[in-house]
Amino acid sequence: MKILITWWAGFVGSHLCKRLLDEGNEVICLDNLFTCNKSNITPLLHHPNFTFVLHDITQPFRMQVDQIYNLACPASPVHYQKNPVETMKTSVLGAMNMLELALKTKARVLQSSTSEVYGDPSIHPQPETYWGNVNIAGSRSCYDEGKRAAETLFYDYHKAYGVDIRVIRIFNTYGPHMHPSDGRVISNFIMQALKNEDITIYGTGEQTRSFQYVDDLIEGMVRMMNNVDWFIWPVNIWTPFEFTMKELVEVILALIPESKSQIVYQPLPEDDPKQRKADNQLAKEKLGREPRVELKEGLMKTIEYFRKFI
Ligand code: UDP
Repeated sequence: MKILITWWAGFVGSHLCKRLLDEGNEVICLDNLFTCNKSNITPLLHHPNFTFVLHDITQPFRMQVDQIYNLACPASPVHYQKNPVETMKTSVLGAMNMLELALKTKARVLQSSTSEVYGDPSIHPQPETYWGNVNIAGSRSCYDEGKRAAETLFYDYHKAYGVDIRVIRIFNTYGPHMHPSDGRVISNFIMQALKNEDITIYGTGEQTRSFQYVDDLIEGMVRMMNNVDWFIWPVNIWTPFEFTMKELVEVILALIPESKSQIVYQPLPEDDPKQRKADNQLAKEKLGREPRVELKEGLMKTIEYFRKFI
């Protein structure tokens, strides 16, 4: 099969790319290398079934393909808030360009949406039917509202033109190939602990996230693309584990016992969600699988990966 991935040089894209190549597919990757981790790119460049195209998906793209995974958009708050207008354009124009491509080529297109569409949720855990609680004018809005608008485009292209769509809402994901200065909590805490720097907890550290290891996400993504027939509504992907940031620090420090880091508390960023956990019922029913990698196991592999940057 000929498969297009947008934003492949990012963390999730590089794992997805490897999985699809290992399965014998021909993979074409589009990236403008905005949040690129160069070490993610190099190993695949000489693969015979791999093509890299330097392209910004806010511009139209034409190629005959069978499937499209649209991952495009930086996902770390630090990165996506640097250029909010570009973030919104990548989400919305990028989605439209990929939907146009799907319409013309009759490809199936999967949108990687996000738990951020729920904003600072008033329902816990969050089912896909929850409409969310998102600030329209805050520092996270460019990402949250961009992803929400992209989802709407997906449903409307399906309803108006019959485009074959799949939508997943990805919860906090971590693992090897994250950029060490990505700015998200797991990479920050691990790098700080490895470098004996202060560990920065924002706010009280009582806010929660449910973290999934990248292999579980990729499995869910590929199943959603291939095993789920004509289900156009979003599916949370996905993890039953929920931790406060204080608990996360404890687990990380226990795995890096040589660390001399101290914990420091810094102000909570604007609109930082207080709690987040997926309602997994729909994912269980549609994907027939539960996440397998527990936090400690996933963190051990991630810490090993980050050690080479010290
Ligand atoms: N966070 C933190 N220290 C850091 C980075 C993040 O306490 O050095 C907190 C952040 O305020 C949020 C949680 O960790 O409550 C997850 O942040 P991340 O940026 O990883 O993802 P998101 O907020 O988009 O879920």
